[in-house]
Amino acid sequence: MYAVKVELKLNNAEKTFINRHIGFSRFCYNYALSLYQQIDHKQYKGGSSKKIDLIKKCFTNVTKKNPDFAWTKQMSSRVYQNSFRALKTAFSRYWKGSGGLPKFKKKKHPGSFTVDSSNGVMLQSGGKKVKLPTLGTFRTKEPIPKCVAQTYTVSKQGERYYVSFSINAELIPPIQHEVFDPVGIDVNLTDGKYCVISDGTMVTFPKPLKVAITKLEKLQYHNRNKQLGNRKQKVSPSNNSRKYYKKLASLHKKVADARNNFLQKLTTDLARKYRHIKLETLNIKGMMANSKLAMHIADASFYKFKTLLENKAKSHGGIVESVDMWYPSSKLCCKCGSKKEDLKLKDRLYKCARCNLSICRDLNSALNLALATEEYITNRVGYTRINACGHVSSYGRGNDISNDVKKQEINSYTEV
Ligand SMILES: [Zn+2]
Repeated sequence: MYAVKVELKLNNAEKTFINRHIGFSRFCYNYALSLYQQIDHKQYKGGSSKKIDLIKKCFTNVTKKNPDFAWTKQMSSRVYQNSFRALKTAFSRYWKGSGGLPKFKKKKHPGSFTVDSSNGVMLQSGGKKVKLPTLGTFRTKEPIPKCVAQTYTVSKQGERYYVSFSINAELIPPIQHEVFDPVGIDVNLTDGKYCVISDGTMVTFPKPLKVAITKLEKLQYHNRNKQLGNRKQKVSPSNNSRKYYKKLASLHKKVADARNNFLQKLTTDLARKYRHIKLETLNIKGMMANSKLAMHIADASFYKFKTLLENKAKSHGGIVESVDMWYPSSKLCCKCGSKKEDLKLKDRLYKCARCNLSICRDLNSALNLALATEEYITNRVGYTRINACGHVSSYGRGNDISNDVKKQEINSYTEV
């Protein structure tokens, strides 16, 4: 399974058509959320999914038939079906604790809508065009492969329009990895670094991304009092505020593109090179509470990095293991295993009192992650398969052997 995302090449009429559907999708989502908030939850018991189903019935049978909302009949019915579904997903994420309480969608934010074909998958004949269920055929800027897919999402980012969908196919044939032994990756964002790998490789933050972020921050600061009108006070948006929000959207897009580019390239390289990767589980919520780290963590989009790496490792025949959040990877000594309790965030150098090891803090942490034993592994993604050389890649086994090898090699990393 892999995802395809291509830019649409639209003329003005098509842009209007897509914009109307984005608006329709936002309208349905906000409509459902607004009614949901008005429900007396003490009187009506039941899950959010059940309540949203009832709201959808109300929309189909009452609102759509109201002459004031006659315009909704001109829109694709698959769009509103998916808007209600999106709200259901948002609520289920909220109840699971993996997302915030669903909020109203705002017009000034980039919008999107999803359409699916109600009767099975839709065949794409390939080339520079895409057929969207119930909407018709649109031109794309890049060719898409001949494939079938059922669900399509159209999104607007800045002034560009994209379509994305997933294809059920194996894209990458399994490959032979360069590095077979487990490696640990320590994600750390100090001094322009992104992460440190236990073999001594350091990955730095790309400069274009830093430049784009600074530019965005400056623009936001200079326009900190601008408002896109105020509907309650009946103030219509000024031309300058319209211009500003347009510019802001395209800068946000630039930052997102640069970050995405960096993460995609990095994860592909890692998945190709290393067979067995151990990642720490960051306590992201706890770190977000610390405002100094918050910006960096949000910016690094660690969650996306992890998901991408896991998916790519899977399709390259590798394994990604998550090491428990409470594993003291930065406090342990990677050489003798003693624990240093008084390690501070500002200590960039790890100095062991027992064996006199002096090593870069992040490298020490990455090495400890590579040494993490089975009891600390909380999640594992990947395949077991026998490689051409006869080496059986089984989960976790053989750690002890390679750990010894690692321990002998550590002395070569101690220079900082
Ligand atoms: Zn030590």
